[in-house]
Amino acid sequence: MRPFGYLTAPDPAAAAALVAGRPGAAFLAGGTNLVDLMKLGVAVPDLLVDVTGLLPGSIERAAGGGLRIGAGVRNSDLAADPRVRAEYPLLARAVLAGASGQLRNVATVGGNLLQRTRCPYFQDVTKPCNKRAPGSGCPARSGEHRNLAILGGSPHCAATHPSDMAVALAALDAVVHVHGPAGPRAVPLSGLYRLPGGEPDRETTLDRGDLITAVEIPALAYAGNSAYRKVRDRASYAFGVVSVAAALDVDGGVVRQSRLALGAVAPLPWRARAAERLLAGRPATAEWFGRAADAELAAADPLPGSAFKVTLARNVMVRVLSELAGGEPAGDDLAGGAS
Ligand SMILES: Cc1cc2nc3c(=O)[nH]c(=O)nc-3n(C[C@H](O)[C@H](O)[C@H](O)COP(=O)(O)OP(=O)(O)OC[C@H]3O[C@@H](n4cnc5c(N)ncnc54)[C@H](O)[C@@H]3O)c2cc1C
Ligand code: SF4
Repeated sequence: MRPFGYLTAPDPAAAAALVAGRPGAAFLAGGTNLVDLMKLGVAVPDLLVDVTGLLPGSIERAAGGGLRIGAGVRNSDLAADPRVRAEYPLLARAVLAGASGQLRNVATVGGNLLQRTRCPYFQDVTKPCNKRAPGSGCPARSGEHRNLAILGGSPHCAATHPSDMAVALAALDAVVHVHGPAGPRAVPLSGLYRLPGGEPDRETTLDRGDLITAVEIPALAYAGNSAYRKVRDRASYAFGVVSVAAALDVDGGVVRQSRLALGAVAPLPWRARAAERLLAGRPATAEWFGRAADAELAAADPLPGSAFKVTLARNVMVRVLSELAGGEPAGDDLAGGAS
């Protein structure tokens, strides 16, 4: 690992100024992703600005009835919060589906949103990778591509976003609060991430020095009837192959509204708006859930090794929505957390 400096800052403005003013500087939160990437030589910051002591570490009731979650809240505390568990079970389940208990005790909300892809070529500095070394090529397309994106990728990069939490937050229309060099501002989660296009190294719309300070989730009356289902290669301690975050509002057997987002199938948490539109006013049946999934997945553009994800995503969407329509709990067990 290359030598690097380490500083703390008294407040978000000072931290933002430190990172904005030095191209090699990076924020350090729990370090569970950044330090791993430093050990691999993928990230080579010359200065770490530790923000763990200055980010809000509490969850507050927001003015409109939702929740404002400090960016320094540990993943374990988020999943354990009684309001999150009762009002937004899909979020608690998504967090519990990620990493391990020990990692969740350290990982923060802000760091979880900005964790980097797990594409094996990105993590191996002996290999070319357009995301890590722009213009060097994408060996994943002709190599190991089973886990690449089926939606939203480009010929330059089709790596998936690894966060489970972000998928639930996408379904909930979360808003990210940022303190940048010019002061605070709010960014809808739907506008936080960029698709790769020809610049896969540019993953978000944030600027250098933009510090995430909080995430706000609006009130959503039917979010109590929600779930997160993650399919992975082994039962614990693994990133998703496909995941679905869903909330369903059914009245008299008819879907009034729904929220749907997909994980591990796109370079960003993928909000399934085509499926949501098709479902509104339709019978809450497996047939219509399948049609909605087909509408969303019509744009899928998989490679041969990732084509199975199209069928898998459809099946998981239908299954989760059917369970929610029947009033059954769906997704990983909230009492669990053993992953
Ligand atoms: C073995 C293993 C398994 C895992 N499995 C899963 C999984 O299944 N699902 C899943 O979702 N995650 C998984 N993770 C990832 C884990 O959730 C992330 O590493 C963690 O959430 C990152 O949070 P952190 O606070 O440690 O971030 P850090 O590692 O400190 O930072 C990550 C990035 O975010 C930046 N950053 C941090 N905080 C801020 C902020 N407030 N504002 C702006 N930039 C910031 C840092 O500069 C860095 O670039 C796994 C990790 C490991 C090691
Ligand atoms: S898919 Fe993206 S991250 Fe993976 S090798 Fe290709 S360019 Fe790199």
